[in-house]
Amino acid sequence: MAAIHILSEQLVNQIAAGEVVERPASVVKELLENAIDAQASRIVLEVEEAGKKLIRVSDDGSGIPAEEVALALASHATSKIATGDDLEGITSLGFRGEALASVASVADVRLVSRTADALEATEVTVSGGKAQPPCPASGPVGTTAEVRNLFRYVPARRKFLKTDATEMGHITEQAARIALAYPGVHLTVTHNGRSVYQLPPCESVRERIGAFFGADLAASLIEVTSDEPAGRLWGLVGPPHLARATTGMQYLFINGRYVRDRSLLHALREAYRGLLEGRRQPVAFLMLTVPPERVDVNVHPTKVEVRLRDAHLLYGQVLATVRERLLGPGLTPSVQAPAPAGGGGPAPSEGDSERDARVREAVADFLHSPPATQQPRLPLARQETGVAREASVGAHRGMPPTSRSGLERPRAPDGGGGEAQRVEQEPAAGRAVQLHNTYLVAETEDGILIVDQHALHERVLFEEIMERLERGPLESQRLLMPVTVSLSDREMAAVETHREALARLGLEVEAMGPRDVGIQAFPSLLERGDPEGTLRDFLAWAQVVESPPTPRQVLEELAHVAACRAAVKAGEPLKTEEIETLLAHRDAAHTAATCPHGRPTALILRKRDLEKQFGRDYAAGRRATETDDVLPY
Ligand code: ADP
Ligand code: MG
Repeated sequence: MAAIHILSEQLVNQIAAGEVVERPASVVKELLENAIDAQASRIVLEVEEAGKKLIRVSDDGSGIPAEEVALALASHATSKIATGDDLEGITSLGFRGEALASVASVADVRLVSRTADALEATEVTVSGGKAQPPCPASGPVGTTAEVRNLFRYVPARRKFLKTDATEMGHITEQAARIALAYPGVHLTVTHNGRSVYQLPPCESVRERIGAFFGADLAASLIEVTSDEPAGRLWGLVGPPHLARATTGMQYLFINGRYVRDRSLLHALREAYRGLLEGRRQPVAFLMLTVPPERVDVNVHPTKVEVRLRDAHLLYGQVLATVRERLLGPGLTPSVQAPAPAGGGGPAPSEGDSERDARVREAVADFLHSPPATQQPRLPLARQETGVAREASVGAHRGMPPTSRSGLERPRAPDGGGGEAQRVEQEPAAGRAVQLHNTYLVAETEDGILIVDQHALHERVLFEEIMERLERGPLESQRLLMPVTVSLSDREMAAVETHREALARLGLEVEAMGPRDVGIQAFPSLLERGDPEGTLRDFLAWAQVVESPPTPRQVLEELAHVAACRAAVKAGEPLKTEEIETLLAHRDAAHTAATCPHGRPTALILRKRDLEKQFGRDYAAGRRATETDDVLPY
């Protein structure tokens, strides 16, 4: 071994660059962040050959005093923090004083800057790690940082660069993150002299989203907001039908910084529980503002991960805020909407989700059908709950399997067709119908019931599983072919940790390799469930759950993911008797223990309130817009 010696500054910086400067987009990120930190209101990003040849960021920010321009390129040189205390409350995007020095060690850099009170700009160039003395230059107030020939001095890195299209994709992603977090900044992006983005300053994040992801998507997003308990949360989230295959459209910003936080992204996914098919991922743009001293930014070289002091409070806040908006009060104005003109129902707000729209349509459809008294009573009103529980709910996703074929699904009322004909065609369905393959609408004693079929079925199955678990392990059924699932090391460890609970549920999992497991058996109760999806959903939870969960929490979560996976989905047509069976289980499911992720499965429109909406409200005095028109169940 050679003698121990101190590395040259150039080499030290190259090593630091290894962490911070992975690809052209990393340089773009650092330069854009510097411009934002300098309070720029206008930023121009010019790129040539996907940043391999040139990256130039010009801003109209504060500029750097002439005597400090050279220093800006030195390592550990920053104007953003001075003492250890400053580290406790970072309010700028940068603070390490490493970026420019790192970049200058792996590329040729030219920095031109001028403050408002300087008569001219000052220029410093660094080439091959050697800095030229600063010299006067012409230029406007602000800073231009030019980076040429990236990785010229570290050819190994250059080899890892991908195609221009890929690298450019990473660059625009960085530009998007800054543009979304700072909509008031004018941002221009060009590639090889051609305009890529031209974003004038605007007040709304929605507009910026439109520029990057299309006006349609932007227009359909739903606004969410809350101020408690951990900080200010504001965001725009996608209605469930916009969900994607990946988490790529989940943007989370904390104090103006784009971060990826597993826990908060999990909270977001949880807010959509029961609303999404399988592993689909919601679209969301969430902006959190918390006291800077509650966020530790100094944990990751590119600061894309942070440590949050109030992680569990923020988790709950994100979950509750988003979920309440998706499921809760947003529905009230929608259900009132079909009231006739002059009925006083507020117009649906701009942010109403697709789900709301579907309920609205479903109710409108239903209200257009003939008056209730002319039709047979709903069978479920006569059905004994106890009898219903004897039915094969659990064993076959709540329905006899044979009933899923050969029968016509109930026809949605259309307001046309003769009454006699209608009754003849739907003797069994009576007053319960499925609308939009998603909602079950039925008559009750004093109103109209609207049920979300997936939410209800999930709830019914959950209660069923929990009830059986009280009595002992669930009966399981060996799968004809074990389902092989590839897992990460952490997921493998989680399987070990929770093996007992998994077995109790009837989910038999065996290691089949260092990173593969085979699901050998699955609870027979969930014949049509999804073994792999259930395991994956459970492991996703196990990864992010805060403190070690109690055995009860583990079982509840297992019951939940299994029920969610096995339940009928929104959009699945149901047979008449499936509808009936499901509705018959509603009362039983609701009187049983509340599930940990309790969410409404049904809405009730009270007859009294309908009368009011239709101007039959002779009792008078009550406003049509009162919020108790619709009771979330
Ligand atoms: P950091 O941003 O962590 O401080 P950098 O290496 O990115 O470290 O920048 C070093 C210093 O150079 C900054 O602290 C800032 O004072 C100055 N600087 C860099 N870019 C700009 C800019 N665009 N406008 C004004 N000052 C800048
Ligand atoms: Mg910086």
